[in-house]
Formats: sequence, structure tokens, C-alpha cells
Amino acid sequence: MAQAFFGGIHPHDSKAATNKKPIELMPPTAQVVLPMSLHIGAPCRPCVAVGDHVKIGQVVGEATAFVSAPIHASISGTVTAVEPRPHFNGLQVMSVVIENDFEDTVDESVHPPKDPDGLTAEQIVEVVKNAGIVGHGGATFPAHVKISSGIGKVDTVILNGCECETYITSDHRLMMEEPEEIIGGAKLLAKVFKVDQIILAIEANKANAAELMRLKIEQLGAPIKVEVLRTRYPQGAEKQLCQAITGKQIPSGALPASIGCAVFNVDTAGAIYRAVYRGIPDIRRIVTVSGSGVRDPKNLNCRIGTPFRELLDACGGVYPDTFKILAGGPMMGYAQYNMDVPVGKGTNGILAFRKDEERTVADPTCIRCGKCTSVCPMRLQPLFMYMYESRDMLKELEAAHVMDCIECGCCAYICPGRLHLTQTFRTGKQKILNARAKAKAEAEAAAKAAEEKKEA
Ligand code: SF4
Ligand code: SF4
Repeated sequence: MAQAFFGGIHPHDSKAATNKKPIELMPPTAQVVLPMSLHIGAPCRPCVAVGDHVKIGQVVGEATAFVSAPIHASISGTVTAVEPRPHFNGLQVMSVVIENDFEDTVDESVHPPKDPDGLTAEQIVEVVKNAGIVGHGGATFPAHVKISSGIGKVDTVILNGCECETYITSDHRLMMEEPEEIIGGAKLLAKVFKVDQIILAIEANKANAAELMRLKIEQLGAPIKVEVLRTRYPQGAEKQLCQAITGKQIPSGALPASIGCAVFNVDTAGAIYRAVYRGIPDIRRIVTVSGSGVRDPKNLNCRIGTPFRELLDACGGVYPDTFKILAGGPMMGYAQYNMDVPVGKGTNGILAFRKDEERTVADPTCIRCGKCTSVCPMRLQPLFMYMYESRDMLKELEAAHVMDCIECGCCAYICPGRLHLTQTFRTGKQKILNARAKAKAEAEAAAKAAEEKKEA
């Protein structure tokens, strides 16, 4: 079994409620809300207006920069609003709202290229870009950017089927139910990166998926090697996965390409296959709806933009004593306060928890046990970073390498003092980014003023 990385934790995986349940197709939703920010990078610009009729696959949000990804209508119907709506990140984000006409009319632009097998690497990247494909593992980084910036530098392409977050089983079920699409996407990635072999990484707790994928890979003669990794959170995080597979560490602040790696979630590979061979853009998502608060946990296949409420209803609703609902897993997910927020391209799970799982304490206190340090896979010192952030000591916080924090949640999970460590680091990182942006703007303004003075 491949070598592990430093730190990490081994919580109960809590996947049994859904890991044997086949993916169910959601009934058609009456409305979708498509935020113009469903990816990392520049938000899209809406290109439809209220009253427009749109078809499935039609672009409703245009990319505004290289690091961006267009957004497509996931249902056909009428645009009823273009306005800020609640987003699962907690902010109000400009969104296109579409009322379903239940006709499922597909846009003329949705068709595969004439000769998918004859596409060059550049043409495949263009298809991926136009299809709005982003990382489905949760990070939502535009796939065309990752591919084009890695061509020529990458010699190890890793398909990430680890799904190390507890409760979440959407990738597991996809490997069991749609292996051909994943393998097809992997073959395309091998062609684009000009590599002889792709590595499919799967955690040991998904042995049936590893076995099935091996069988299908053999049947299809695909250049893929399955690597079964030790079940240890956060095995699926890019840096830890690259280390487990290659033994090399990604330097601070660098990307996997710096050590010759590119990592793609298994469903991202599936999305690439669907775009190239069927012309389908990124409009659907497999979501695990689980947790003690959900009456009938399931894996659901839904259209991007479907409100959380409808997915919970499709699972029989939540118990009355539910105290927390998360977008994503318990380690890295975001707490939600509004069930009208829509499923995004990276929404792998919606979890609900009953009151008896509440672990919050009134006065979180550090007892200096050092456990957080021993589990941090980035070898950081969470207890000091927490202190610096709490006292607004941003220079010290940055010097403690908070920007290297991958927000995995291991420290918060292990902390007996119940400190909100991960959330604190998210806030701290944002404060540092804000301070950098402010300093840059001030420097630019000063340079401009000096230039004007010189010219006067
Ligand atoms: S695990 Fe929690 S209590 Fe222990 S040192 Fe870290 S922050 Fe303090
Ligand atoms: S959340 Fe950040 S500080 Fe905490 S264990 Fe993960 S990487 Fe380390």
C-alpha cells in the first residue's frame, strides 16, 4: 500500500448509510438558481435577461477571465430573475433564476464534435473550457486552466477517487455505476498530457470500487493503474495525495505541477468524457445527502442550481431536532442557514445533524495539549496561529504559514478545547489577502501620484 503523509486523522467514515445505495435521479425541479460564481476565479457575467427563454446547455453566464468557467442552463424554461441570491458560501451572489417549463429542450450548441477521437490536445482543452468544467472534488478550479498550465510540465496524472471526507459517497457510487465515463475521461487526459499511464487513487475502504475499476480498465485496455491507499483523512487532498503517490512534497505556495503532477477528481474526468463525446456541459451533480438529521439518506443525481431544500425533501426531510446543515463534508463543509441555496458544481454532499451531535462549548479554551500540531498534515502550529488571528497579529500569522493551511479540519476535529480552529484560519487567510490587496492598491495609487507630479 502506498506510503502515507505526515499527520492526518482516522475518524469513523460514517459512509454506510449511502455507500451501497445506487444513485437516484432527482425528480425535475421547478426552478434552478445559477450563481455566477460556481468556481474559483473571476465570476461570470450574466448574458441572459428576465423574460428570455433558455434551453438546456445554453450559456447563461459568460466567463470573464482565463481563470473562470462559463455557466450553462441546467433546465429549459424562462429566466425570471437576474439578481443577487444567497450562495452556499454565505454571501449574496449575482444569480440567474430559471423557471422550469418541464420540456427539457436541449440547446442546439449541445452536440459532440464531429470526430471526438481525432481531436488534438488543444481542441480537447477548448471543449473542456467551453463546457464550463471545474474540479468536482470541491475545489472547483477550472479544469481547462489546470490542463493548459500543466501541459509540458506534468508527467504524473492522478485520478482522485479517494473521497476521504466522512459521510460522502458520491464518487464511490460513480466509480461503481459509471466506470466507463471515468475511464474515458482518463484516456483523454492521458492524450492531452502525453503520458503513458494514469494513476487512479482509491482509499482502501472502497475495495469494491477498486476491484470494479480494475476489471473495467482491463476490459477496455485503458492505460490506468489503480493504487489503493491507506484510509486516512485527508488522503484525497492534492498535496497529500501527490506525496502518497510520488513520495515528493509540493513546496509551500506551489501547485502539483511544480513536482510534475496533475490531480483530477474522478467525476471531473467523467465530465470531460461527457463534454467530448456527447457535447454535454457541466450541468449535473451527484450529491450525497446524509447525516443523522436526514430521514432517508441517498445519493442523488440533480441539476446544478437545484435548491438544497428539494434534495432534503427527496430524502424524506430532516428530523425536527436537526441543529446543523452543511454543504460538503463535516471536515471541510460550510454551515448553511438558508435551504434555498443551490447545489453548485462542487457540492458533493449535504449533511444534516441532530442535536445530540452538537459539540460546541460556551467557552472554547486551549489547554496546550499539542494534539492539533501532531495531526496537521501541513506541519503547521494551529495553536499559535489561532492566538495570532484572535489578536489580529497578521504579520505573525502569515509568518506561521497560515496561507499553507488547506482547511482540512484535522486540528478542529482533534482539539479537546473545542476551538473553532479551521474557521479561524479561513478568516485569517482572508484578512491577509485583504491586507495584501489594500497594500497593492495604495502602492499603485502612490506610484500614479508620483508619476503625475513628475509630468506636471
Ligand atoms: S488541540 Fe486544541 S487545546 Fe490542544 S493545543 Fe491545539 S488548540 Fe490547544
Ligand atoms: S485546518 Fe489547517 S492548520 Fe488545521 S490541520 Fe488542517 S492544514 Fe493544519
